[in-house]
Amino acid sequence: MPSLASRVAGIEASPTLALVAKAKALRAAGKPVIDFGAGELDFDTPAHIKAAAIRAIEEGLTRYTASAGTPELRQAVCDKFLRDHGLRYDPSCVIVSCGAKHSLFNALQVLCERGDEVLIPSPYWVSYPPLVKLAEGVPVIIPTDERRGFKVEPAALKSRLTPRSKLLILNAPANPTGAVYTQAELAALVEVALAHNLYIISDEIYEQLVYPPHRHTAVASLGAEAAARTITVNGVSKSYAMTGWRIGYCAAPQAIATAMDTLQSHATSNPTSISQRAAVAALTGPQECVAEFRRELAARRDLMVEGLRQIPGLSCESPAGAFYVFCNVSGVGDGSRVAQRWLEECGIMVIPGDGFGASAYVRFSFATSREMIRRGLGQLEQWSSAATP
Ligand SMILES: *Cc1c(COP(=O)(O)O)cnc(C)c1O
Repeated sequence: MPSLASRVAGIEASPTLALVAKAKALRAAGKPVIDFGAGELDFDTPAHIKAAAIRAIEEGLTRYTASAGTPELRQAVCDKFLRDHGLRYDPSCVIVSCGAKHSLFNALQVLCERGDEVLIPSPYWVSYPPLVKLAEGVPVIIPTDERRGFKVEPAALKSRLTPRSKLLILNAPANPTGAVYTQAELAALVEVALAHNLYIISDEIYEQLVYPPHRHTAVASLGAEAAARTITVNGVSKSYAMTGWRIGYCAAPQAIATAMDTLQSHATSNPTSISQRAAVAALTGPQECVAEFRRELAARRDLMVEGLRQIPGLSCESPAGAFYVFCNVSGVGDGSRVAQRWLEECGIMVIPGDGFGASAYVRFSFATSREMIRRGLGQLEQWSSAATP
């Protein structure tokens, strides 16, 4: 065995790998699997965005760019913050990276000192705890309550604070729960964070996928003090069906942005030049594609939630944002066991909740066609009536 650095030795591979491998094996054996596991939209990247990338290649935009991104993309990001949230950033405070995940990695690397505590509301996106550990920080999990929409309460945040608390990671709309905070809820939470001099990393990658009447509030828009402590992470992956293009970005206070740029300049250098041009087209071009995605997703959400509620032993809230239903399966069994059984016994792939810190749940993605959702629900109903004595 090679002696691996302790930094990575404690990091486990994704807990869903075994399930994904099993789904693949079933498919290879000719057994159809209905996939409710997807963490990305099934839509194609809009044509005008693809066209911009093709033009970029033809125009020879094939060399290194500034490591923090091209001036045009950083300006487009600034324009977006101003347009959507009234936030004024200098382009030097915007760092473009190889996906929002990379932005999160960079932010944690430059802010986290060994032993610093990073507060993470649970259920959380699977990558937050490993990202914190890779920065030698200590994840401190704050449980939330399903009956309160899986939203962190200020008192719960307060109760987890220690002198080592450094950072709070917020994610709304949330993966896996779809939770979206009202402006008042968010303000109350941010007030506690600011009173304790925390930095806030706000992962707003799903900001465009919020279903009316719910509305997204940007943490940094809650006042100058909030903006001075917030690193907003976002990207084009989820809003524009561009997961493969690998473009994320963040807006941060100047000193933090500069440190992230330095780190990135020695690690990956710039994100792909061609993808950056595509991201400019996404952010500055027509936004009708996003509205269309949102309308279709809202219809799928309703279909899925309605169907799941018909099945004995399952319960779920209708998510306010993102494209997941976080379903309580405790009436049927433990989340990972249920996910395994559904895959084996009725060819349904879902993601067990334990990777998100909530083992009584499974995550259904509705980033798949209505036809697939109808079929999958039908199979689950059949399974349920067969399994119930
Ligand atoms: C998908 C996702 C990301 C990562 O997005 P990329 O830009 O593709 O790296 C970050 N945060 C959350 C909560 C996500 O679901």
